[in-house]
Amino acid sequence: MIDFHCHLDLYPEPSRVISAADKAGIYVLSVTTTPKAWRKTSSLASNAKRIRTALGLHPQLAHERLSELPLFEALLPEAKYVGEIGLDGSAEWRAHSGAQRQAFETILKLCARNGGRVLSIHSRGAVDEVLGCLRSEPDAGVAIFHWFSGSAAQLRRAIDQNCWFSVGPAMLRSAKGRAIISAMPRNRLVTETDGPFATQGNRCLEPTDSWQAVRGLASIWQTPESDVVTALTENLRRLGSH
Ligand code: MN
Repeated sequence: MIDFHCHLDLYPEPSRVISAADKAGIYVLSVTTTPKAWRKTSSLASNAKRIRTALGLHPQLAHERLSELPLFEALLPEAKYVGEIGLDGSAEWRAHSGAQRQAFETILKLCARNGGRVLSIHSRGAVDEVLGCLRSEPDAGVAIFHWFSGSAAQLRRAIDQNCWFSVGPAMLRSAKGRAIISAMPRNRLVTETDGPFATQGNRCLEPTDSWQAVRGLASIWQTPESDVVTALTENLRRLGSH
């Protein structure tokens, strides 16, 4: 199983979550929200061979953390994966769109200059703007829209721009989420949980909850869960070879 967008460092007890994921053999992309968090978050999982730590700067923190862009640049040669990065156009964060854009555009440029990366991208309320930035930096790497919440037309544009998608149990709970997922290309999709931000009842989702996303995909695709696992594993292999 795969959890391609999870914030391991933000759980109250990261070591418990990490050892459960490790024991269950789950491939995890552990995303970070600031460059400063990357070293420590990487070291949390240094003994777990299926966990990779992505270097990120979350758009909701961009306005407070532009000063960490030089650190991002210094760490990038060591980081094979990048995220969480992107833009957030929702009402609460729109005031900081200038800083968000500066951070996102700078990071894409750095990725392009360093041979490209696999990118886990936040795009809430800003899909068109994200696609515009990606179009300007075609060598930045493989863009994976995490928890895509745009329109069907925006999804088509993202597909046309060769983007990938990561989807989780929280997205699969809504009819709108399921409709969007059914239109995503099966060969450009992986599962995620977005824990601990994404929840279920009164608990945070964890990598071990990825099976719920597999079950949801099996129902949408009308195919056995084992076929979903085969398809996702092949997708992960292709991402790893980038
Ligand atoms: Mn996230």
